[in-house]
Amino acid sequence: DGTINKIAAGEVVERPASVIKELVENSIDAGAKRIEVEIMAGGTSFMRVTDDGCGMTMEDAQMAVKRHATSKIREADDLVTIGTLGFRGEALPTIASVSRFSMMTRRAGDELGTSVRITGDGEPQVEETGCRVGTTIRVEDLFFNTPARKKFMKTTHTEGGKISECLTKLALSHPEIAFRFISNNKVSMTTPGTGRLEDAITAVYGTQAGEALLTVGFEDTDVKITGFLTKPSMIRSSRNWQTFIVNDRLVESKSMSKALDNAYHSLLPKAGYPLAVLFIEVPQRSVDVNVHPRKIEIKFEDEGRMFKAVYKSVLDAIRPSGQ
Ligand code: ADP
Ligand code: MG
Repeated sequence: DGTINKIAAGEVVERPASVIKELVENSIDAGAKRIEVEIMAGGTSFMRVTDDGCGMTMEDAQMAVKRHATSKIREADDLVTIGTLGFRGEALPTIASVSRFSMMTRRAGDELGTSVRITGDGEPQVEETGCRVGTTIRVEDLFFNTPARKKFMKTTHTEGGKISECLTKLALSHPEIAFRFISNNKVSMTTPGTGRLEDAITAVYGTQAGEALLTVGFEDTDVKITGFLTKPSMIRSSRNWQTFIVNDRLVESKSMSKALDNAYHSLLPKAGYPLAVLFIEVPQRSVDVNVHPRKIEIKFEDEGRMFKAVYKSVLDAIRPSGQ
């Protein structure tokens, strides 16, 4: 069983940032209003995600760390139309199998919570414990038992940067959740959780960005695009500051990035890339998010149509009068 977990770890857990992404997505699924992430040494030695979500019963908690026992897939059909963010039910067991893992969790209605500890391939140690409502997961010494994988990690600076980038995008995709990110004992990012995307953008990218926003609002039959991009005063040297959320899922799509850049550059100087956060809503059946085990890349049934929609939404934002 441990062997299976370790093999799968390569697909789900590539580096500390993949662990953070899985844990934070679970917190989001659990209905958290506040999520705190703390790391040390770029996440290589220590990562902790604390949420105030629904928590788990002792039974749930035990199930959660068992392979394939807990998938949110209820029916085969969900493989095509994935409603919730998580869908494989393997993240926690996989992460636990390559780290020193511990979890504390309690539901609001329960007097006592549960603590689960797992070290690598070891058996889970489960106990009742006093703890606050919600879930805290701690992952230490990632890849301590898989030296080959450990070698693939980059410097703590690089790994920490990946976590920061990933958290920034998760925070932007959920302006209704208050995020707090602490790295090496310093608070490096917070968002207010007001539900207003402008507030989240201002919190993570600064007031200058917040003051340079152009509103995106586009609708064409079953495609809806909303969000913000920035005026040329906030142009960036890379696409790192572009976030795409399709049906509540943070994704990467080369064609959407290209549509955004092309539209922007068709009207404004080619100095760099605009900062942008775009929410795209399309019928679930017209997207395929199963193209990669880490489910980041997205494919549209009609890529050409989506390209045009993003292109047009950006043009409209830059020229609101539509002349
Ligand atoms: P998946 O998200 O695909 O279901 P995971 O391995 O990521 O699989 O999580 C397993 C299960 O553990 C989840 O389905 C959920 O029931 C529970 N769980 C994980 N993290 C949390 C959390 N932060 N709060 C509440 N429940 C959680
Ligand atoms: Mg999950």
